[in-house]
Amino acid sequence: MCLLAIVGYYKDRASQKSRSCRGRASARFSFAVSGHFAFPAGRQNAQKLQKIFPVAAGDHAQGQHARLKATFEKPWDFQREYWQSRLQYPDWYIRLEKELRQLFFPVVHNDPQLKVFRNRVYDLVEELLAGDKIPLAVGGPDLDRERKAIDTVVIHHTEEDPQMSLGKLSAIGLVRQYGFEYLENDVPGDRVRGQPVWSGHFREGKMVFFAYHWLIRPDGRAERLLEDAYIGWHAGNWETNTRSVGVVLSGNYEEAIPPFAQIEAAAKVIREYYPRVARGCIIGHREVKKVASCTCPGAYFLATWKETLLQLFHQDSGTCTKGRFIGPYGLSVLLSPPACA
Ligand SMILES: [Zn+2]
Repeated sequence: MCLLAIVGYYKDRASQKSRSCRGRASARFSFAVSGHFAFPAGRQNAQKLQKIFPVAAGDHAQGQHARLKATFEKPWDFQREYWQSRLQYPDWYIRLEKELRQLFFPVVHNDPQLKVFRNRVYDLVEELLAGDKIPLAVGGPDLDRERKAIDTVVIHHTEEDPQMSLGKLSAIGLVRQYGFEYLENDVPGDRVRGQPVWSGHFREGKMVFFAYHWLIRPDGRAERLLEDAYIGWHAGNWETNTRSVGVVLSGNYEEAIPPFAQIEAAAKVIREYYPRVARGCIIGHREVKKVASCTCPGAYFLATWKETLLQLFHQDSGTCTKGRFIGPYGLSVLLSPPACA
C-alpha cells in the first residue's frame, strides 16, 4: 500500500530537507498522556506544512533492505516480550527506532519473510491498542486545519490480506506513518519526538491512525475509516492530502486485478459521496507519487482497471484543475468545502 511511502504528511521533504523546520526551538507545544495541552496560535506556518514527506524511507528501501541481515543477526525472530515491553511507553517509537527504520519504514515488495514478521508486530500493536495498552496523547493540535474542498480521489490498495481487520489497518498506520513522523519531528509543533502520539482522528470513540477515508472489500462492502473533514496521510504529498480523499481497496493487487465487485463499489462510493470530483481527478497513488518505489495500487491499474473504475463512475465531463471543476461549457465552479471543514 505504499503505506509507508504514503504517509506524506508533508510535501516532498526529499527536496526540502535542508529547509526543514526540524530543530527550531521556538514555541513548543506539549502532548500529554493526561493533562494540559498547549498549541501556540500561528505557530504552525504554511511553510512548515510545505515540507514534503520523503518516500517514507521508500527511496532508499533497497539499500536499507540489503543491510537488514547485516544489522540483525536473526531479523525474522519475533519476540513478543521485547516488543510489548517497549510499546508500553509513550515514546515507544524511540525505543524501537532501529527496528522501525530498518524493518518497517522501507517500501519492500515480495519479501514474504519480512511480511510475516511485520504482521506479527502489527497483530501485537492491534491487540495493545484495543486494550488501551499503548499510551497515547489525550489532546493535541488540530492536524486538519488545512483541510480544503475535496476535488481529488486517490485510489490505493492495502497490499495486505483482503480480510484484514480495521484495528490492524489502524495499527499499521500508527507504526509506519505516525511512528515515522514522530521520529522525524514532523508533526505540527516542535519537539514532538518523545511525546505520546496524537492523531486527532476518532472513530467510534477511539483514536485511529488510518491513512484513508474509505476501505473497499473484495465483495463490495465499503467501510468508512475517516470523516471527510479529516486529512488522510495517504498520498505522499501534503498539498494533495489536504484536498483529497483516499479510497483503499483491501487486498494485494501488485500483480492482480481487483474483483469487479470491488471496483464497482469504489466507483459507487465516489459517485455517491464525491459526485463533483472531475473524472481526471480520480487517480492512483502512483500518479501522485511518481517514484519507482510507489506502485500502488498495483501494476495493472493504469492499463486496465482504472478505465473500468472511471466508466462505472459515469462522470465523463470536466477536467481536473486545482480546486475548480471546469464543466463542459467552460463553467468554473468552486467546489464546496467539505461539510465539517
Ligand atoms: Zn497507496
